[in-house]
Amino acid sequence: MKVLLVFAHPEPRSLNGALRDAAVKELGTQGHEVRVSDLYAMRWKSEVDRADFPSLTPDSRLKVAAASGEAFSANALTQDVKAEQEKLLWADVLILQFPLWWYAMPAILKGWVDRVYAYGFAYGVGEHNDKRWGDRFGEGTLAGKRAMLIVTTGGWEEHYSARGINGPIDDLLFPINHGILFYPGYDVLPPFVAYRVDRLDQAGFESVADRLRERMRTLATTPPIPYRRQNGGDYLIPSMQLRSGLGDPNATGFGHHLARNAEVLDKARPIIDEVLGPGACEVSPTRP
Ligand code: FAD
Repeated sequence: MKVLLVFAHPEPRSLNGALRDAAVKELGTQGHEVRVSDLYAMRWKSEVDRADFPSLTPDSRLKVAAASGEAFSANALTQDVKAEQEKLLWADVLILQFPLWWYAMPAILKGWVDRVYAYGFAYGVGEHNDKRWGDRFGEGTLAGKRAMLIVTTGGWEEHYSARGINGPIDDLLFPINHGILFYPGYDVLPPFVAYRVDRLDQAGFESVADRLRERMRTLATTPPIPYRRQNGGDYLIPSMQLRSGLGDPNATGFGHHLARNAEVLDKARPIIDEVLGPGACEVSPTRP
């Protein structure tokens, strides 16, 4: 597979730098082709401004989405943005790697998303009508590809658990996993998170690196997070609300957007029946 790793840490000798090197080495050993966008080393421009749209006349008001769409369709985006888009189209797998800073990605990486995800490329794609609301959330330019996060935190795993003070890690990462990766079509793998890393010793590093290498070996086979597809029938259009009766009645917030096992199985049933014969799904009488 072709893998693009977008790396957002200012120090190559950091823990993140060492983990990136371990991941890249393991991917190479597995025969994958790897490209790295090292944003600090590239001196990536993180803010969106007029300079991103050279064809905009000086007196016209900057409306970012409109300018982005016009520049994208005219092939007039800046060269740095076009190069990153080309890498995204090239890669079968996208990995975003960063230390958690203020419960989010570092600004330089957010700025990479803001600029590279142009209108017409990552959003504003597909038709809007009473059956479809564009190609997004499971469909879009990057559909059929996989993506995952590699994240390090100072906080402990317990601090990010269901009742932890920081909030559950899956909730904190939802805007990235669902809003940035699933939105333009990626199948999103569960994130790799290394907790409580600030005083990691060498033995601790080896254990984290081993876990990461294992995730790199299973990139192609790890099941993605079962997010619901926007146009798959689970949502009312155009209100985009989950249909009543779907989802875990006890789920709150972001949890609604995960399909339950039983729903996933129901959708797969026709395919499984065709391959394995009628009734092949009914292996377990107790489905969640
Ligand atoms: P480094 O500082 O480079 O290294 C961490 C430790 O790993 C060091 O002790 C280092 O010696 C050791 N190490 C062991 N082996 C190696 C090796 N082979 N190579 C390199 N280092 C090694 N945390 C949260 O949980 N939530 C937050 O919201 C949050 N916000 C933050 C905001 C800011 C602005 C900053 C600066 C930090 C924040 N943190 C937060 C903490 C942050 O997430 C961690 O400091 C970060 O994840 C550590 O990763 P690093 O690559 O910078 O580690």
